[in-house]
Amino acid sequence: MSAAIWFMAMQFEPHVNPPDDTDHDHAHWIIVRSGHVVIEAGAGSLPFGSEPPASATGPHHFLGLLDGRPVWAVDLPDEDEPHDWHELVHLRSLYTRVPEPEWMLAGRAEQIIQWDRTHRYCGRCGSETELHQNDRARQCPACGFLAYPRLAPAVIVLVERDDGKILLAHGRQFPGRFFSTLAGFVEPGEGLETCVEREIKEEVGIDVTDITYFGSQPWPFPHSLMIGFNARYAGGELEIQEEEIVEAGWFGPDELPPCPRGAMSIAGRLIDHWLAN
Ligand SMILES: [Zn+2]
Repeated sequence: MSAAIWFMAMQFEPHVNPPDDTDHDHAHWIIVRSGHVVIEAGAGSLPFGSEPPASATGPHHFLGLLDGRPVWAVDLPDEDEPHDWHELVHLRSLYTRVPEPEWMLAGRAEQIIQWDRTHRYCGRCGSETELHQNDRARQCPACGFLAYPRLAPAVIVLVERDDGKILLAHGRQFPGRFFSTLAGFVEPGEGLETCVEREIKEEVGIDVTDITYFGSQPWPFPHSLMIGFNARYAGGELEIQEEEIVEAGWFGPDELPPCPRGAMSIAGRLIDHWLAN
């Protein structure tokens, strides 16, 4: 089975090490630090070429091949400044600056670099870890413990009522008056459908039914995997959990408050899909 991932017309094949026949003359360099990515100022693209830019002195990780071209993630040390022909852009703003495949790979690079930075010591015995030769893992030479990149699965749910209105909430962490679909992290030992039911009940006090899978999206803020669902209202009155939610309500297509739209986030895709139907 091919592990290739298709983005529009471009094909990405993940690898831990470069295949023997890799053409190293044409490489993408994704240089990241704390959620920020280096791009060529003006050009609006990730650095590209046979050598990494001079500022890329930190640890390198091979990510794979994008249309046959190698893609490297590079840690930009905290003390290093990118050169003046480069710009350091936050991952969220990067979405509108580079093609979507490059944005997706920048999110992957950020997660690999953050994992690599935060797993230098064994969580079991405290020894310094080393990169595993063939797997995306750091291994402890003393006790053999393996640390893989962290992923935090979270459900995100568009709840619709029989009158065609959807549930949107203004979360406490949102800037300004902004609403979105409800979301929450999956707990250890919990299935996704159970998590959907629990999160909705905890945050707004209602019951849902007809939970159906919509799609998923890596969300590198900092290492989530968002798993989208549609669900139908099944009963109960809105009663918000005030620690997390400021306001929640039912909205029809013509009365939407400020909320995500477009393909950057799965919340935007859920809302656009509901509007289109
Ligand atoms: Zn150890």
